Amino acid sequence: MNPLKKLWQKLHFALTGRFLCDTCRYDYGDACRRPQRPNAKTCPDYKPGK
Ligand code: SF4
Repeated sequence: MNPLKKLWQKLHFALTGRFLCDTCRYDYGDACRRPQRPNAKTCPDYKPGK
């Protein structure tokens, strides 16, 4: 993953305390099978839009 993207995601969690999955469009049903779901702090597949 792009290191800047990863850093930004970590910063987002540090500032908001919210996991990426909370706002990710793949956080439904079987759309995402990543082990870090639903508490991802960094994720290469994160897409906003939930
Ligand atoms: S793609 Fe990543 S951020 Fe989105 S739901 Fe899955 S683990 Fe969470």
